[in-house]
Amino acid sequence: MTEEYDVLIVGGGMVGATVACALGNSALSVALVEQTSPATFSPEQDHDMRVSALSIASQQILQTIGAWEAIIDMRSCPFKRMRVWETAGDTEFNSTAIDYDELGYIVENRITQLALLDRVKDFSNITLLCPASIENIQYQDGKTQVTLADGKSLSGKITVGADGGQSRLRQTANIGVTSWDYQQHAMVINVETDYEQQDITWQRFVATGPQAFLPLSGKNGSIVWYNTPEAVKRLKTLSYDALITEMTETFPDCLGKITKVLGVASFPLKRQHAQTYVNQGIALVGDAAHMINPLAGQGVNIGLLDAACLAEVLLDADRAGKNIADIDVLKRYERLRRNENLKMMTVMDAFYRIFSNKSMPLKILRNLGLGLAERITPLKNKVMRGAMGLEGRLPKLAKGESIL
Ligand SMILES: Cc1cc2nc3c(=O)[nH]c(=O)nc-3n(C[C@H](O)[C@H](O)[C@H](O)COP(=O)(O)OP(=O)(O)OC[C@H]3O[C@@H](n4cnc5c(N)ncnc54)[C@H](O)[C@@H]3O)c2cc1C
Repeated sequence: MTEEYDVLIVGGGMVGATVACALGNSALSVALVEQTSPATFSPEQDHDMRVSALSIASQQILQTIGAWEAIIDMRSCPFKRMRVWETAGDTEFNSTAIDYDELGYIVENRITQLALLDRVKDFSNITLLCPASIENIQYQDGKTQVTLADGKSLSGKITVGADGGQSRLRQTANIGVTSWDYQQHAMVINVETDYEQQDITWQRFVATGPQAFLPLSGKNGSIVWYNTPEAVKRLKTLSYDALITEMTETFPDCLGKITKVLGVASFPLKRQHAQTYVNQGIALVGDAAHMINPLAGQGVNIGLLDAACLAEVLLDADRAGKNIADIDVLKRYERLRRNENLKMMTVMDAFYRIFSNKSMPLKILRNLGLGLAERITPLKNKVMRGAMGLEGRLPKLAKGESIL
């Protein structure tokens, strides 16, 4: 017997679980399948290596669907300032300039996911299957059938692929991608400093790649050191003491003295874009649809906008008496999101190329850019609003409006 749902979501990471919560209390029946149960939270745990800078738009989405309070109750670090510099140019953004208390929040990915999966349990129209391992996915004539390892079989009028960059659903549906690897890896180093972190993120651009410092709660911080794959490989072989010495030599004094390394991880950087976000009976969201250079921390932020937009499109269609699996309905979601995401990917690529380059004309250009951003207040405020996710056409949830 196959269990039939209106919406079957494959992948309960931050983005898939947001789609589910956004459909909570609606007339649609929803199943959310996640293969791994995230470890429960306790305050004495070290910070995870995977953290994200959540924009104000993301915070608004999470608040409107009822998951934000739980994040705040666990652990997060708000920041109101962002300093960006390179050899000569320097600029600092401050949210108070545009009357916001914060520019964003640094939150561990697991905490966001835990808050969302917990919120899912409040909705009687959502069935959460977690941990649930998928044995088989079949896609035929616009219909997806998922078989779990315990033999259970599920299908949805539409199936949402929220199963990350390697999306099995996307591959099963034969949706191709354009992709390439950046010649940089991101090394993430969780550190303890000699003083409590402030309300500021730091980002310095050098030719080998950006160097960023994200504040975490207490005396903790997350350093993201972009470099060539070879350089990251070498750094990973160092003892923690030797790594502290290298960081002290490389990173500016303003971070405070690094007293301890708590963990190290590295990630290859890839750009990937699905050739289409939708197919008959299928919609892709988050990293399943797009992976972008994380240098400005926008990946999950655009993923949460996908989630909010897809939920809104589906509920609008259902209320209007349309079939939610109709390709015209799904195409509407694609029209609203694909170009927006492509623009963001293009801007990130431009940053990558302009800043990771020793050429003199580009050096002049980027110093000019930072200088202009510093001097021209409307331009500076527009850049800041962009980083906060407040520019462009926003789905209702990102504006704090209900979609039910
Ligand atoms: C170094 C680095 C720093 C970053 N920093 C930021 C940042 O500051 N801000 C930001 O916005 N973004 C950032 N990102 C990007 C961000 O991490 C991703 O965009 C985000 O994790 C994507 O979320 P997702 O839910 O789409 O996919 P994922 O996080 O990949 O989640 C997919 C989920 O699907 C589940 N799954 C997969 N396959 C199956 C299956 N077959 N069955 C059931 N479940 C399945 C997985 O277990 C997982 O839970 C960063 C990325 C990197 C590499």
